[in-house]
Amino acid sequence: MQHFPIFLNTSGRRVVVAGGGAAAVAKLRLLLKTEARLTVIAPEADAEIAGWAAEGRLRLVARAFEPGDALCATLVYGAAEDAAEDARVARIARAEGASVNIVDNLAGSDFITPAIVDRDPVTVAIGTEGAAPVLARSIKAGLEERLSPVLGTLARVGKAFRGAADALPMGRKRRDFWAAYYDEVGPRVHGEGGAAALTPALKELLARHLHASEAPGHVALVGAGPGDPELLTLKARKALDAADVVIHDRLIAPEILELARREATLIAAGKQGFGPATAQEDINAMMIAHARDGAQVVRLKSGDPGVFGRLDEETEALDAAGVAWSVIPGITAAAAASAEIGCSMTRRGRNGALRLITGHDMDGFAEQDWRALAAPGAVAGIYMGKRAARFLQGRLMMHGAAPDTPVTIVENASRPDRREIAARLAGLPDAVAGLDGPAVLLLGLAPRAASRIQLEEAAQ
Ligand code: SAH
Repeated sequence: MQHFPIFLNTSGRRVVVAGGGAAAVAKLRLLLKTEARLTVIAPEADAEIAGWAAEGRLRLVARAFEPGDALCATLVYGAAEDAAEDARVARIARAEGASVNIVDNLAGSDFITPAIVDRDPVTVAIGTEGAAPVLARSIKAGLEERLSPVLGTLARVGKAFRGAADALPMGRKRRDFWAAYYDEVGPRVHGEGGAAALTPALKELLARHLHASEAPGHVALVGAGPGDPELLTLKARKALDAADVVIHDRLIAPEILELARREATLIAAGKQGFGPATAQEDINAMMIAHARDGAQVVRLKSGDPGVFGRLDEETEALDAAGVAWSVIPGITAAAAASAEIGCSMTRRGRNGALRLITGHDMDGFAEQDWRALAAPGAVAGIYMGKRAARFLQGRLMMHGAAPDTPVTIVENASRPDRREIAARLAGLPDAVAGLDGPAVLLLGLAPRAASRIQLEEAAQ
């Protein structure tokens, strides 16, 4: 960043424009919006400049720029549209302590004037260091369209009301008040009754917020999907946008955590593979404590919160503590994995049932209905199955599963480092060896998009 954007206080400051032609007029149109004391120095000036001078909006000095003209000036614009004259002005002005801008001469300028979106007192400045003026213009056009034309009025009235709003405690309550004003009450009231109706509406809104009982805390148990941020639901995004506290599993991708409100506190909890775990009671206690403080808590879990996510244990604890909660579902790993290999998880004539099973539970490798799982055509998404691969293989074959039953292993589904391995039951333990990311085993499914995968057919 060669040019550092700042907002300069122009109130009562002297700003000099040397030049009286079209370039000077263009700069003056912007400068006239400020509170600066403007002087234009030019042997000849455009009629528009003369008009502004006649209205008393600037002082016009009808001669060439001379030493002494930049004394006490904060900014000097070289707008003579003549390289030698502009350079002379710049030399004098710098020697007298002013910052100089030469119109259309980036290299010769101390500062540049950005493209401006003006909703005074809200001002957006766009600069590209001279690299892409076209881009600056299109960004400006986009913002002009997006920002309501009454935003400036809302902000001006809001600014005058800040002192009164300080009656609300700092933090969430004050933030909620201003959000209600800018997002909803302000635009509506301005539309109905114009600017004059805004201050009375603010008073009424403040009274309501002062007397509202403490906003109760809430816990949303949110499914973050398998990893790709684009597989988040819109509801999950909204919950992250509004969160004060996000308690997330370690499996959650950083790109997803980026979407949380900037001020939100992020807390990593839960466990990763067989690594260190935060005790479930500690997670419960954390959710409850933050919600009792009035926070909007998001408990963010990978995939769907209700699939091997200990959801019930958490909602039961919240119920016992009297904390309000809701669940936002997510895309579970098996759904993402089967999409990745282009397969349907159910199929007419093949399987009318789908099982989601875990490879291990609290007591070790998990027992299942092996007879049903070993039947021809059976399909299951096996979570946490890598360590249990040999056990799964043994149990299934013992109950009559064919050794060439397809099993596709999808590691890191939906993430950039995803990997798919097409195996057969007979070679399952070898196929999972060496995987270190989260993986789901799709029993009974072979990839359809064979070209995309790395086939590791096991010996039969
Ligand atoms: N609630 C999650 C599952 C949590 S259990 C869900 O609905 O997906 C953790 C297991 O989920 C991992 O051991 C792995 O089997 C699976 N898993 C989670 N994310 C995955 C991903 N991106 N790719 C493959 N498997 C994943």
